[in-house]
Amino acid sequence: MSTERAQEMLPGYAADGLVACRSCDCAHRIVDVPPGGKALCRRCGAILYRNMPKSLDHSAALYLAAMVLFLLANTFPFVALQYGDRIEQSRLITGGLALQQAGMGEIGILVLLTSVVFPFLTLLGMLYLLLPLRFGIRPRWQTRVWVAVRALTPWSLIGVFMLGLLVSVVKLQDLAVIVPGVAFYAFVGLLVVSTAAVASFDPAVLWQRMGPCPDPGVTDGAADTAAAMGYATCHTCDLLVRRSAAGEHPACPRCGSAMHGTRHPDSINRTWALLAAATLLLVPANLLPVMTVIRFGQGEPSTIMAGVVHLIQDGAWPLGLLVLFASFVVPITKIAALIFLLVTVQRGSDWRKRDRTVVYRITEVVGAWSMVDIFLVGILVALVRMDGLATVYPGSGATFFGAAVVLTMLAAHAFDPRLIWDKADSGEGAAAGAAGAAT
Ligand SMILES: [Zn+2]
Ligand SMILES: [Zn+2]
Repeated sequence: MSTERAQEMLPGYAADGLVACRSCDCAHRIVDVPPGGKALCRRCGAILYRNMPKSLDHSAALYLAAMVLFLLANTFPFVALQYGDRIEQSRLITGGLALQQAGMGEIGILVLLTSVVFPFLTLLGMLYLLLPLRFGIRPRWQTRVWVAVRALTPWSLIGVFMLGLLVSVVKLQDLAVIVPGVAFYAFVGLLVVSTAAVASFDPAVLWQRMGPCPDPGVTDGAADTAAAMGYATCHTCDLLVRRSAAGEHPACPRCGSAMHGTRHPDSINRTWALLAAATLLLVPANLLPVMTVIRFGQGEPSTIMAGVVHLIQDGAWPLGLLVLFASFVVPITKIAALIFLLVTVQRGSDWRKRDRTVVYRITEVVGAWSMVDIFLVGILVALVRMDGLATVYPGSGATFFGAAVVLTMLAAHAFDPRLIWDKADSGEGAAAGAAGAAT
């Protein structure tokens, strides 16, 4: 195939006119989809690629707007707590710093990284890539920056932070009057704009101006999984690379990233190890207090469960159930789901592979919401510092819980969903002539 044709068909993905599903490794021949449409994997239903004609313009503008809102949200006061004639103002960054001062350094760093540092670096990295590309210039170190952005994205938890803030406002409403500041509105705007920015971005725009894709060889029509056909997918730019053509020290011919073979290395063992550690940490996380609220010199340490019961008794039962779901149901179900996936993969099970792939995708998405309790502790410790009237102290349970959530997120990333499909590749779902198109 000529390189021009490969570029025309789908800039960014085409090698031999093929694309491999990231969830199940099923190889598909690339077909045209209408503008605004997307191509779905015929075997597992995951999105293969989209056709977003104005992606570069839209995403560059939206990421720029998101950056402005982010800077506003971090410079102006976030909320003010009014108690009689006393006013306590707080900025976004103080959550992490207050935890640090209270001797909970590790959790303070986690809050600071996931609510401020990582979102900032993600926005900065995207602008570094998109703005030059918008004007036809290829940014330096494009591949490295993209690898960093992709690694940080799952740890930028702006939405989860917002939920934590909502819960803390409800918890505080009988204690003080809460006045939202400029930064609060900027943050709400940031949440909306950054969601739109992520949705408008097509990774293919990164690679379409990088010159023609090297032609890795010719294939016959018998499509199967990319691995069975002798291809490996580049982890960075999603190019399908013929393994024999990759050479002795395999590197992606388009972006230069190292190729690790067809599956994540040591995926099963790493996932098991991370899950075991997370399960152990959940015990002290639920038994030890996550915080102590002292009002007028009185107060008792409370665990995650006690916090939920308190919210429900206060009449805020929708939020109470939400916190119960995020900090109790989600971590336990997530660990159980990953163990189930590991066991079925190790036994080579054929049972409901498509449904198991969906289970994995849900596990990957919902896990971060467990961080809401950690943000709640950080926000309350930062906001409620009115000596004599009310103070909130963090408890050691929060550290264990934070560590457990991080480990379950790492476990979900370590698991390679393509392993679900590996045992029974022969026959079923093969010969994928065209991807199913939908709008
Ligand atoms: Zn698939
Ligand atoms: Zn690559």
